[in-house]
Amino acid sequence: MVERHSLSCSCSIGISVFPSDATDPQMLIRDADTAMYHVKESGRAAYRYFSSEMNTRMQERLRIETGLRRAIAERQFELVYQPKVNIASGEVVGLEALLRWRTPEWGVIAPGRFIAVAEDTGLIVEIGRWVLAEVCRQVREWRGRGLALRPVAVNVSVRQFTSGLVSDIAAAMSEFGVTPGQIELEITESLFMRNAEEVRTILKGLSRLGARVTIDDFGTGYSSLGYIRHFSVNALKIDRAFLSDFTAASQNLAIVRAVITMCRGLGIGVIAEGVETHEQLELLRKLHCDEYQGFLFSPPVGPDEIESRFLKPFPRHEPVSGRQQRQA
Ligand code: C2E
Ligand code: MG
Ligand code: MG
Repeated sequence: MVERHSLSCSCSIGISVFPSDATDPQMLIRDADTAMYHVKESGRAAYRYFSSEMNTRMQERLRIETGLRRAIAERQFELVYQPKVNIASGEVVGLEALLRWRTPEWGVIAPGRFIAVAEDTGLIVEIGRWVLAEVCRQVREWRGRGLALRPVAVNVSVRQFTSGLVSDIAAAMSEFGVTPGQIELEITESLFMRNAEEVRTILKGLSRLGARVTIDDFGTGYSSLGYIRHFSVNALKIDRAFLSDFTAASQNLAIVRAVITMCRGLGIGVIAEGVETHEQLELLRKLHCDEYQGFLFSPPVGPDEIESRFLKPFPRHEPVSGRQQRQA
């Protein structure tokens, strides 16, 4: 008890053994420390003996961290874009920007290999700022060529979700003359485990900027439905895990149907991600899902390919899409 509050603590222990792990005290302590960090990463309150694989993983992380610092300085990042398609009309109604890291030594690396390190080290904040600026620059370039624009969604990590995010977006939008409605954000459910008031304030700030917010990977994380009612989000994106074993009688189909019904009731949009087959698309159509993304329509591709395949010159009287109607 501390000042009438009961506090509890847990203990994470890393163990290294003399002489099999190391023979000098400093090395022994370093190895024990490495083992302790493994315990912390895998949920804490346990003990773990040091192993040489831990060192290999640690070194790989360190290599990625050093590489990321250089990547920021040397501008080794690029963006690919994946279309979002309206299921009823077959029209491309938006794009999602996805980060790629082009390294001289390892080639092009997808975020799965480096986002976690970028998040742990805080580097994601700077990388995220670059992503926002690059998306705004790209939007201005497309608009300059007279192309009819589609909103572009940017993925945002929990670590980036601070009041600084609102000012970063505002700055990028004003620098590149991007108008409200052209930038959207994808956040994950884990965000709602944070201070509710803070999250609400940031969401309000984003809404003032005209940036729609989608919950990404819905169904894989915290999955308390309460937050959807209490926070203003515009759409849910159903995680692709639910599209595996997606047949007329499957449990996954029952879950997807329930999520779509819930979104209808709440008046928010619903997107399915990771659609790879015609069968999945047909089932989603029957369930009246609004939009989809996936390899079936197109994998993420570079901006030139987006432009040549999916963006048309701005017509004098562009028809209003279902999504724009909903936005209005
Ligand atoms: P996400 O936002 O859920 O993006 C969807 C991922 O699924 C992308 O992987 C995409 O390439 C992949 N995908 C799309 N269609 C299909 C399909 O039909 N089948 C399969 N198997 N996969 C498909 P990617 O580009 O490797 O990105 C992985 C994750 O990294 C993203 O998941 C997102 O959480 C994160 N990420 C990507 N770019 C950024 C970024 O700029 N900032 C932040 N903070 N995170 C990012
Ligand atoms: Mg996403
Ligand atoms: Mg996702």
